[in-house]
This record gives sequence, structure tokens and C-alpha cells, in this order.
Amino acid sequence: MSDDLRLVEAVSDELDKCNRCGFCQTRCPVYRMTGRESSVARGHLARLRAAIRGEIPFDDDIRSSLFECLMCRACTAECPPAIKTDRAVIAARASYVVRGQPLAQRLVFQRVLSRPSLLRAGARALGWLKRTKLLGLAKLGRLLPWLDRGYSEAPSWMPTPKTFLRERLARRDSGQVGRKEVAYFVGCAIDCALPEIGEATMDLLAATGHIPVVADNVCCGLPPYSYGDLESARALARKNIEALEATGADIILTDCASCSSFLREYADLFDEGDPAREAAARVAARVRELTQFLAAVELPTDLRPVRGTITYHDPCHLSRYQGVTQEPRDLLKRIPGVEYRELPEADWCCGGAGSYSLAHYELSMRILERKMENIRATGAEIVVTPCPACIMQLRYGAQKFGVPVEVVHLTEFLGRALPAAAATGRKG
Ligand code: SF4
Ligand code: SF4
Repeated sequence: MSDDLRLVEAVSDELDKCNRCGFCQTRCPVYRMTGRESSVARGHLARLRAAIRGEIPFDDDIRSSLFECLMCRACTAECPPAIKTDRAVIAARASYVVRGQPLAQRLVFQRVLSRPSLLRAGARALGWLKRTKLLGLAKLGRLLPWLDRGYSEAPSWMPTPKTFLRERLARRDSGQVGRKEVAYFVGCAIDCALPEIGEATMDLLAATGHIPVVADNVCCGLPPYSYGDLESARALARKNIEALEATGADIILTDCASCSSFLREYADLFDEGDPAREAAARVAARVRELTQFLAAVELPTDLRPVRGTITYHDPCHLSRYQGVTQEPRDLLKRIPGVEYRELPEADWCCGGAGSYSLAHYELSMRILERKMENIRATGAEIVVTPCPACIMQLRYGAQKFGVPVEVVHLTEFLGRALPAAAATGRKG
């Protein structure tokens, strides 16, 4: 066995748990689209077992099917021994990273994500390119060999605001300076693409008597982790652990479901005995999922009615990774005037999965189409979800598949019900 396969061998206990029942086939979005055994959890696990034993080569064929996995954990939910196939897939992806990583990918994960100012500069440049139309973004795809033609679609779904969240927060009223008990972790997508969501979150928290201190954090590390770049993920986690400990806050909140799920699993990045593991566990214990936090605090009693038919999409990182499904629905149903309609297959992955649509555009769109048709069937005017990646994907889906629905973050929607005096933090 080659050295790089040792990472896969480390999860061999998990691989061996598979009893080949095939229940995972019923819910795997990728398998439902491709019909290929190599797309589903049972197939991934069998091929990895065979590769460890040297029965098949650990080659590009396995690699491409492993990178098709959405990491949605739908298979785990159906699996009698609850195998976390995503962990095995990550171990295998990490093995490919050991063999080599595209230079551009390494630069982004190691140099850009750890420097929010660079990330914002990149987002600003993309926004300028998009607005001026001087350079088709598709051309840039040639510099990033791990991306496929989905990259040329990126300008359609990636918002490019002129000001970012951290800049907007810096302009808030001095009365809105954070208090120490609650810290707000700024997710990259919220900062650079959807800053209005972060503002809505801060307004909502202020209306509940919580004005968080804004953490000086970097990317949570989930993007490099998802590609198997564990070293970059650990480096980012270390920076965040330090930044979050420095806030001194007892409670850490974020409005990105992916960030909160990854922060809560930080300790798993580090080996037993590594002091970082203990610090990661301390931080993880302070991370509270935002909708659970909001469900437990007092919302203002004088909420305004919000007219409209709404539905709710479960982000994988909230429903399956954190087991949170009821609280967001309960919060929405507390808003006067709302007609709530349950979404069929609400936990079917939207196909966004971070940057999945960049690398697997056709597959992502087929998965998204099923989600959009379910949304259409509800007749809802608004779909609410607490994940920025889902929001961007669903907005793109509404446009692409002609579904007349507005897609908003949970805090944005709840914010519409706040009494006018409650949203006091914004300037201009
Ligand atoms: S994590 Fe999702 S995409 Fe991957 S094998 Fe499981 S169900 Fe399929
Ligand atoms: S459901 Fe679990 S045990 Fe059954 S085949 Fe799929 S991965 Fe294996």
C-alpha cells in the first residue's frame, strides 16, 4: 500500500461497517441522478476498501467519483450503522492532496483564505470585472484547472456587493459596539457576497438584547477541508480558535450554517494529545447554532405582520450535521400573517455544497432542478433558509428554472417582522 493511502486506512473501521444493504441508494442525490454504483456511499466504501487491499488502483477514476460526493450526509441518515461516508471521502481526497495539489488551489487555500483583506480584494476585483464586462469571467477558468464550465456561470449566481459586511459593521452606531458575552463569527460568503444578511442578523440580535462583539476571524476552513487539504483547514482553525478565545465570549454565533457546523467539529481536525484539540473543543462548546439560540431568547412582543406564503429549505449542514430542523420552522411560524407550507423533500440537498456547482455544473443543476420543482409545487412566494451557499444556489435556480420565488436568509425574514425602532444599527 502506498504511503498516501494511510489516511484512508485510518478510517478502515468505518469502511468495514458497511453491510452492503443499499439503503443509501434511496437518498443519495448524486446516485439518484447518475444511477451509478460508484456515486453512492456503498460504492465509495467498497472501492476504498479494495484500494487499501491493493485490489484496484487508487486512480483518477476513483478520484473523480469521490469528488462528485456532495458531503450532504443523506446516506448517513439512511444507513443502519450510520456510517459517516463523508469522513471516508475526505480521507481519500486528502490522499490525493498528498499526491499533489493544483497550484492555484493551494494558493487560495493557504494564502487567500487566511487573509480576509485579500479575499475581499479578490471579491472586489470580481465585482469590478462583472460590472465593467471588460473580461468574461469564463476566461479565468483556464487558470483554475480543477474547475469546469460551471465557472463561466459564476457571475450569474455570485453577488458582488460594493461594500462588504466588515466595512458596514465598522460604520454602525457607536451604541452598537459589541458586548463581550456574545461573539459573531463572520463567514466569508456573508462578508463578501451577502453582507445584508449579516446586517439583518446583527439587527435581530440587537432586538433581542444581544449586541455581539465581532470576531477577528478568518475563513472557517471548510472549503480546504472539503477538498481534502487538511493542513490548510487546520491552519485556519488555529487562527480562528485564537481569535474566538480572544473575544472572551461565552457564546459564539454565526449566520452561516456551514461555518457553525464546521466550528463545532473543530476538535476532530487535531490528533489526540495535540493541545490544539483541547482548545478547539473549548471553542466548539461555545458555538451555539443561531436558530436554536434565537428560538430560546425572547423575540420582541410587538412583531409586525409579514404577509406571504413561505416555505423552508433545510441546509445539509444544519439538518444533518447539527440535527436542527424544528427551531427554524417554529421561528417562522411565530411571525404574524405568515402562511407556512412545508416543502416536499425539504432536506434534499440543493446541489450548492460550497463550490460544487463550479466543478460539477451539470450534476449540480440536475440536483437543483428537483429542489426547484418541489419549491414550485408549494406555491410559496418566499423560501427561507439559513445558509448563504444554499441561498445563492436557490436564487440561481429560481432564475434558471423560472420559479417565481424570493429566497431569503432566516434572519432577513425575521427582520421584516421587527418593529421599525428595533433595526437601529444601520447607517446609510
Ligand atoms: S454524502 Fe451525499 S452525495 Fe455523498 S454519498 Fe452520501 S448521500 Fe451521496
Ligand atoms: S446504507 Fe450504509 S451499510 Fe447500507 S450499503 Fe449504504 S453505506 Fe453500506
